Amino acid sequence: MNLYTNIFLCIIYITYPLLMFLFYVAYNRNYCKEENNLFLDVALISSFYLIIKFTNPIFGYFPPIIFNVPLVIAYLKKRNITIFLLSIMSVICYTQHFDLNFVLIIIEYITYFFLYLALIEQKNYNDKYINSFIIIKSFFFTLISVYSNFYNGDNYIEFFAQILILILILYLTIYFTTLLFEKGEEIIKYHMSLKELEQSKQIQNSLFKITHEIKNPIAVCKGYLDMFDTNNPDHSTKYVPILREEIERVLLLLQDFLSITRVNIEREAMDIYLLIGDIADDFKPILKNKNIKLDLKIPDDELYISGDYNRLKQVILNIIKNSIEAIPSDRHGLIKIYTKKSKNKINIYIADNGVGMDKEVLKHLNEPFFTTKCNGTGLGVTLSSEIIGAHDGKINYSSVENQGTTVEIILNCIS
Ligand code: ADP
Ligand code: MG
Repeated sequence: MNLYTNIFLCIIYITYPLLMFLFYVAYNRNYCKEENNLFLDVALISSFYLIIKFTNPIFGYFPPIIFNVPLVIAYLKKRNITIFLLSIMSVICYTQHFDLNFVLIIIEYITYFFLYLALIEQKNYNDKYINSFIIIKSFFFTLISVYSNFYNGDNYIEFFAQILILILILYLTIYFTTLLFEKGEEIIKYHMSLKELEQSKQIQNSLFKITHEIKNPIAVCKGYLDMFDTNNPDHSTKYVPILREEIERVLLLLQDFLSITRVNIEREAMDIYLLIGDIADDFKPILKNKNIKLDLKIPDDELYISGDYNRLKQVILNIIKNSIEAIPSDRHGLIKIYTKKSKNKINIYIADNGVGMDKEVLKHLNEPFFTTKCNGTGLGVTLSSEIIGAHDGKINYSSVENQGTTVEIILNCIS
């Protein structure tokens, strides 16, 4: 193996496990998972192993030097157990493979540890540690090389030049590896702050919309209260219902918004057919009143899913409410509810023959506060999607303008 291949391989063996570690960190931060530093320890020990196993010492007769890079990174990252392990492994490796002075090598690695203790609390710890490490390494490396008779007395200029080159290679490898590591971490941080910025923009947007939505009814209330004359009995009968209606609208909006911000579900085994039946019973008087026919086709059976009864009830209520609101009063309204059971899934369909939705409405359907109704909150569909998502299920809307809408809910059954 020639000199360049050797150096190239060393660099690959050092950077590859560290890059894998950086990928792991990036992945975990992206999904807000806890990181486990054990992976860094594994990466460093793997680097060490790969260099020892698959590369030759540079300039043949000198002891290997590049395998100190993982140890330096362990010192920079303050990974105490890995420092200990790599130091022991380095001493064993030196003394086993090379006929080197055991005592001198132990002193060398203990010195690195004392250096760590001396610098750990200082400012610019990383730079100071790397520079001091290189100085100590140069001293011991020369001493050990001379002491172990690597110098054959021929050409001392070449001998010391080679030592200098080796130290330089070590320094550059440490420098570029730490640079790569720092840049990688910077990119991850940058990506995370961009993500946070995006989230805070969305929050600001939502807050803006809520304020706007709440401001309108309150402004209406204020307008009526300004006109309110307590001595005029007509005003009470005329204005109080309007005030009540507007206040109810604000309360509804706040209630919907609160449910969206706190979608936490408590699952238990529940019979989904029973839930649909219960809801249909609740709606029967309203539907009769509105002249809407209910076609309910559910098996006379039991089917258990792991779900939150009240939350799922909220979803189906929202959907049926939307269906009722979509049916014009002059139409023979029909709401069909039926289910389809496949292997380990249950599909629930709620179909109406209401006004339906055009492409534009369907596109914005899932956006919070999107509504086409003058007194709607635009939170029902969003909340339903959140709840079904929290159940690992799916909710799909299909609609034909002027013909009706079908909502499909897919949930997992307990097999
Ligand atoms: P809201 O009912 O307060 O308007 P939703 O989030 O429940 O808010 O619904 C958002 C919009 O989706 C509605 O304003 C309506 O335009 C549309 N929509 C939802 N369900 C139906 C349906 N069954 N038929 C027609 N349009 C619907
Ligand atoms: Mg609604």
